[in-house]
Amino acid sequence: MESFEELNISKQLLNAITDLGFEKPTPIQEEAFPIAMSGKNIVGIAQTGTGKTLAYMLPILQQFKFSKDYKPKAIILVPTRELVIQVVEQIELFTKYMTTRVLGVYGGVNIKTQMGQLTQGVDIVVGTPGRLYDLAANRSLLLQNVKKLVIDEVDVMLDLGFRFQLNNIFELLPEKRQNSMFSATMTEDVEILITENFIEPEFIAIALSGTPLDNIAQSCYPVTNFYTKVNLLAHLLKDKSKYQKVLIFMDSKKNADRLFEALEEEFWKDLGIIHSNKSQNNRMAAIERFNDNASRILIASDLIARGLDLANISHVISFDTPKYPENYMHRIGRTGRAEKIGESVLFYTEAEEEWKLAIEKLMEYTIPALPFPEEVKVSKQLTLEEQPRIIEKNPHKKTQREAGPGFHEKKDSNKKTTNLGGGQKLKIKKAKKYKKPITRGSKEMNMKKRK
Ligand code: AMP
Repeated sequence: MESFEELNISKQLLNAITDLGFEKPTPIQEEAFPIAMSGKNIVGIAQTGTGKTLAYMLPILQQFKFSKDYKPKAIILVPTRELVIQVVEQIELFTKYMTTRVLGVYGGVNIKTQMGQLTQGVDIVVGTPGRLYDLAANRSLLLQNVKKLVIDEVDVMLDLGFRFQLNNIFELLPEKRQNSMFSATMTEDVEILITENFIEPEFIAIALSGTPLDNIAQSCYPVTNFYTKVNLLAHLLKDKSKYQKVLIFMDSKKNADRLFEALEEEFWKDLGIIHSNKSQNNRMAAIERFNDNASRILIASDLIARGLDLANISHVISFDTPKYPENYMHRIGRTGRAEKIGESVLFYTEAEEEWKLAIEKLMEYTIPALPFPEEVKVSKQLTLEEQPRIIEKNPHKKTQREAGPGFHEKKDSNKKTTNLGGGQKLKIKKAKKYKKPITRGSKEMNMKKRK
């Protein structure tokens, strides 16, 4: 699509978009628009930078009708206060020539001020789930007229533990409404949220292109279990001149902590860890140390690492194999930046092998496998999850062993080879990264608008 005019949007919207200097819709904007206009529920798999904010706002604003009603018609849920502010700022730019009233609500500030603002009437509320629910629960925010619900960065929201608040908000919203949900990654939690709450959503997946596959040397090791992975990792990390700046990805906070503990004694000087259970201060300190080269190894969970600006990473190590192939793409994209060659090393167990195959299918590339180094000790120690489960199939029969000690038997849910986010089912479109608008100007414009 060559211009926004082709979407047949209102003159007011078109003018505002032209003022922002946007020439044509980004792929997600182009794809989401007709689906949203048809009233369907949408699930978009897209990162920040794809233009997703305008993608979900454009149909809402196009369908927006002026009314004196003081109750909001659209609710946008985002995980953090910073994002509330950013999204409100963007909406104010998009609605420069409209009479839309937008309000951002988030915790950590006096709720009474926000209650007062709500009584003045508002069309669109952007908020974090916790504060938004509190306002709805004390009836300062009335949700009866909400026709559109957007949940942005759902993966982060669930990682931060907002599930309960989300469910509470769903309960208060009218059933007849259109839902759009955006997530950078597809996780099991996100999948559950979709199946439980969204009727027949249409899926759109946009991957940021420029994942510089050509700049990344990939390799993988078959490894029998968690603690053997620890031994292999420690063996690799000993080579300081090669492994200069290493980002280690872990699927869960628990495993991240477990790995940290296992490496702490040997590498404490070099080691940092970040995930969402660590305090903001701890996280900042770990990132700062890593970026200042005070530490060379950072263990991170997928979600927390995504928004971070980490420079000059020489190696990305996937300690586990992501179940959702695009998570692997996000991981390796953290190295090999700015024309530098980066390295990606993937560890996989027998149980994880099918996910490795899904990744290779998505990339249309077979990751070269390296032989397991002879000098590395194969551990017999198993994590709780790896231990063979004893399942009593029949109380009158003897108990039965499910699997041998080396590999745990896959859970049924893990056996499926297709998944929602997994390349196979979804056609992933490529998009380039779009820059943030110059917000300094926007505030001035907003001030003018309010006068
Ligand atoms: P988002 O993914 O919503 O965070 O968007 C990232 C940035 O892309 C926004 O801050 C916009 O400045 C920019 N952007 C959004 N849509 C377009 C477009 N159609 N053309 C150029 N830049 C855009």
